[in-house]
Parts: sequence; structure tokens; C-alpha cells
Amino acid sequence: MSIIIGSHVGFNKDKQMLGSVIESLSYGANTFMFYTGAPQNTNRKEIDANLTILAHNLMEKENININDVIVHAPYIINLANDKNMDFNVEFLTQEIDRVQSLGVNKLVLHPGSHVGLGEEVGLNNIVEALNKVLKEEMNITICLETMAGKGSELGKKFEELKYIIDNVKLNNKLGVCLDTCHINDSGYDITNFDKILDEFDNIIGLDRLKVVHVNDSKNEKDSHKDRHENFGLGHIGFDNLINVIYNDRLKGIPMILETPYVDIDGKKYAPYKQEIKMIKEKTFNENLLKSIEDDNI
Ligand code: FE
Ligand code: FE
Ligand code: ZN
Repeated sequence: MSIIIGSHVGFNKDKQMLGSVIESLSYGANTFMFYTGAPQNTNRKEIDANLTILAHNLMEKENININDVIVHAPYIINLANDKNMDFNVEFLTQEIDRVQSLGVNKLVLHPGSHVGLGEEVGLNNIVEALNKVLKEEMNITICLETMAGKGSELGKKFEELKYIIDNVKLNNKLGVCLDTCHINDSGYDITNFDKILDEFDNIIGLDRLKVVHVNDSKNEKDSHKDRHENFGLGHIGFDNLINVIYNDRLKGIPMILETPYVDIDGKKYAPYKQEIKMIKEKTFNENLLKSIEDDNI
């Protein structure tokens, strides 16, 4: 079975998406995900149309399908808190414009944290904000991410995402991003992944699932922590993650690694080339960290 696998990559102001494509090819990936700027601030550069064309040409040459490419929305956007409603609506609207001018059609979004307002108020704020943001003419799917339930995060249970989807008017523009680290941390048992998919299908519908983040977790199931671990080195483990990636019901869905950079003598190195190699070979590399080190010296 051929898989669509990639990782989080950079997006810098000089090369923009062209740089993201080049980086992902160096990992042996056939898709990728990026932020259009620093996720924690609002500084954004104009999208350069020439660089976008070069990026698309390279993708075509290398068989990367633009429909598999993902942008992650900045996490300063918190739609669950209506105190910043105007800012959130404005900034997310601008972000959708940027994503569309890049030719990308999938935007992953953290639903938000209710910051003490209560779950129901938080969920209704998210619905209200999305109803303001979404427009019929937008050619985009906003993929609400399943969250770990850290602090007051919403989206930790499929029912919460279902509530949002049911109440947003233009919900034909909503999908879901399933993050394996997050669902593990929020209490789902990934050793029985088919049962999770049954539940997802019953509550939300599998046709809504557009992206999977394949991260291991530094913590046990139900820990509500959200700390990603390198592929196969955490509490979910190699075999369970491979079962997710090669699950027949997820055929054709992009799989994205957001595993942490590895620290070697104070320098940080991307683990993705070695992780993607293991995933393609379906064989756990006992010396993953050593291989990443060897790759970089
Ligand atoms: Fe995320
Ligand atoms: Fe994620
Ligand atoms: Zn996370």
C-alpha cells in the first residue's frame, strides 16, 4: 500500500513554499505541513506569487499532490475565547487568504481553550467565530484538530468536534485532523485503533477525516499533557503507529510527523528522514537517535 507521508517543515521568508518543498524532498517525503509564519505571533510576509509557481512546478515534477499539502494555523488564535473575537476572526480570515494564494486547500486549526468560561460557552464561541469566518466562496477545508485536553483545551473528545461541526452553518468546509499523541493523551486506547475509528465514524463520520498527525507521546494514555515523542520511542510505540499509518480505512489520507527535533551536542536536528525511512520499511530502527546523528555529521 502506498502511503502519503511527510512532516512539519519550515517556511522562511526568502524561499517560502519552495523551501518547504525542497526540505520535504530531502526527507524522502511525498507531502508536508508548515506554518505561514511563526505560530505564536502575527508577523506575516506577503506571499510571493513567483515562489509559489516554482514550488508548484517542483511538486509536480516530484509527484507531490498539492491536495495533500497542509498548512497549520497559528496557535495564537483561540476561537473559544470571545474576548478576542474580532482579532481572531480577522487573523484567521487573513490566514485563509494566504493559504488559498499558496494553492493549498487544507488548514489545520486547534479548536481553542475555554480559559475558564466553561466547555459549553467555549464550544459556542468557536461555532460563532467559524460562522463569521467561513464564506461560501472559500475553497478550503478547516481541519479541526483532536486535542490532548491540556488545561482547558476543547476538542479532546470526538463529541466536542461533532458539536462544532453540527452547529457551523457552512460545515461542508470543516474536516478533522486526528493527532495520535493528542488522542492518546486525552484517553483513547491506540492499541485498539480500529475501535477508535469505529467511534470516530459513528460520532463524526470518517469522511470528515482529512489529515493524521502521527506522533508518539512522552506520556501515558489519559495524561492530558501533549508532549510529542520521536516515532516509536514513546508510550504509543512503533507497531501501534505503523498500524495507524497502514490502516486500510485511512488510505489516501496524508500522514504528518510532528515529532521533536533531536538535540545532539546542543544542536537540533530534524528526525524526519530517518523516521520516514523506518515507516516505509515498516521496521523499527533500534538506533534511531544514533542514525539521526550519523546523518548530520
Ligand atoms: Fe496542532
Ligand atoms: Fe498535531
Ligand atoms: Zn501536540
